[in-house]
Amino acid sequence: MLELRPSCEHCNTALPAHSTQALICSFECTFCAQCVDKVLANVCPNCGGGFAPRPIRPSHIDVSGNTLSANPMSATVRHRPVDPHKQALLVAAVGAIAAELR
Ligand SMILES: [Zn+2]
Ligand SMILES: [Zn+2]
Repeated sequence: MLELRPSCEHCNTALPAHSTQALICSFECTFCAQCVDKVLANVCPNCGGGFAPRPIRPSHIDVSGNTLSANPMSATVRHRPVDPHKQALLVAAVGAIAAELR
């Protein structure tokens, strides 16, 4: 099951389950949309992959018990701010390659 992480790994801004500003990579590294755009240039600092919007887990409807309350967010904060120099090198190396071709 997708781990819904509570905040942006870089700036630590809160990203509640209903947030439309949460983006994830395929390994569930979680960042806010502003950091993905302004800091990361759509390159995950941990794996080099691109990002997609994190799906919203339903909290107001109940289909077969697959709800947010039955499957809550992770409480584990992963605040690992990106080193701007290392990120610039990574973006220079792979940022021009479309995410689906990396
Ligand atoms: Zn952020
Ligand atoms: Zn990643």
